[in-house]
Formats: sequence, C-alpha cells, structure tokens
Amino acid sequence: MKILMKIAGCMLVFISFSCPADNKVKWGYEGDIGPSSWGNLSQEFAVCQTGQKQAPIDIPAISATTSGASIQTNYKPAQAEIVNNGHTIQINLTNGEGANLNGVDFKILQFHLHTPGEEKVDGTTYPLNAHLVHKNSDGKFAVIGIFFKEGTENASLKSIFSVMPAHEGQQSLNENFDASDLLPDTLSYYQYEGSLTTPGCTEGVTFYILKKPVEMSTAQLNQFKKIFPMNARPVMPLNGRTITQHD
Ligand SMILES: [Zn+2]
Repeated sequence: MKILMKIAGCMLVFISFSCPADNKVKWGYEGDIGPSSWGNLSQEFAVCQTGQKQAPIDIPAISATTSGASIQTNYKPAQAEIVNNGHTIQINLTNGEGANLNGVDFKILQFHLHTPGEEKVDGTTYPLNAHLVHKNSDGKFAVIGIFFKEGTENASLKSIFSVMPAHEGQQSLNENFDASDLLPDTLSYYQYEGSLTTPGCTEGVTFYILKKPVEMSTAQLNQFKKIFPMNARPVMPLNGRTITQHD
C-alpha cells in the first residue's frame, strides 16, 4: 500500500511536471530512447528535434572560409573529479583557468569523451573525441573539440582511465590535471555555431574543433569502449550554417 501510494503520488506529480523521486528523463544512444527520439522524450528536450543549429555536424572543410583569431589557452593544473554520469566519462575541473576565444575569456568547466568522435570532417570519423566545455562571464558556452586517433598511449588520459568508474559514480583524481596536456601542438581549428550534443540540446554553443588529432592507444580506446561502446549523437543538418577555419 505504501508503495502504491508512492507510485500514485509520483504519477500525479509526473502529469503536472515530473516525478521528484526520479526526475531525470531517461535517454540514451540506442533504441526508443536514442537520438532520433530525444525531442519527444520530454518537453525540455524539444529543441533536440526543432533546433536549426544542432551539433555535432559533418564539417565541410573544403568550403570553410578563413576567419577568427588564434586560440590562446592559459589552462593550469586543477583539481579533477572523474564522473561516470551514465552517458560518458566527464572530468570536472575546479579552477582550471581557461582560454581566450576570439577575444573573449572563457573558463573551462569540464571535458568529456565520445566514441566514435561526434564531429566529422569531410565525412571522416575519428574513433574518439573530447569536448572541452567552457563558459564566459555572460553565461555563454564554447567547446573546444579534440580528435583522437589510434597510436601511442596518451599519458593524460592514462591518469584518468586508471580510476574512471565503470558504473555511475565519481572518483577524485589524486594528482592535479592540466587540460593543456590534452592539446595537440597546433591549435588550428574549424569553428561553427551549434548546441549541446546531449538533451536538452541547448543552442548558442560555439565549437572550436581542432584540426590536428592527438593519439591514444588501441588498448585505451578499448578501455573506454568497454564502459561506453557508443556514445555519439549522429551528425545533424547544417541548415545553411557557414563554417570558418583558422590556421
Ligand atoms: Zn560532448
């Protein structure tokens, strides 16, 4: 009876808003909660379906026009919390400083990983990518994307992968983490206007996708895939967006 009342109470709240005992709408990357259904799973996810500037995209590198300033980073070693949120491994950084993007200072909040890489370049897919999520003082988001290809073991991922939780949960990293250790040696990029690539797919996010991939070992890739075999949203229509690039 007690359980029934709880369910009934929850249902009532659910009709008007959502169940407080489980207010997270379940979404995923496959089946009827997969990307093509996200927009229908919740009103708060509607823009996943209706949005016109959604991410990721297949970057038409050939037609990208040159514009923008060089990326200036001033990341510093920061306290890192490694979270398995059920959708990815996300590394939350406290006081990791940030980057200057086209004259505006952004602070890094977190980075997380997708396999296969979410953005494509002229149809080419990478096995994995990182999205470094930044926010400025106006609350605007900017993401620096880093592609990973298979090759030499990646030292900065190694520290994370040695403690990343296989199931939902979190783990602090013993040593500080420096986001600059993730970067390739050149920061030339493609720039586009997009959205969060997970529900609610909020738009107004500027992406700086670094052209030069970095390396990770096949063993590292498999280690991530063991937890998340596939956590990439398919590419979304350009809808007339222009892509710029900077070398
Ligand atoms: Zn992402």
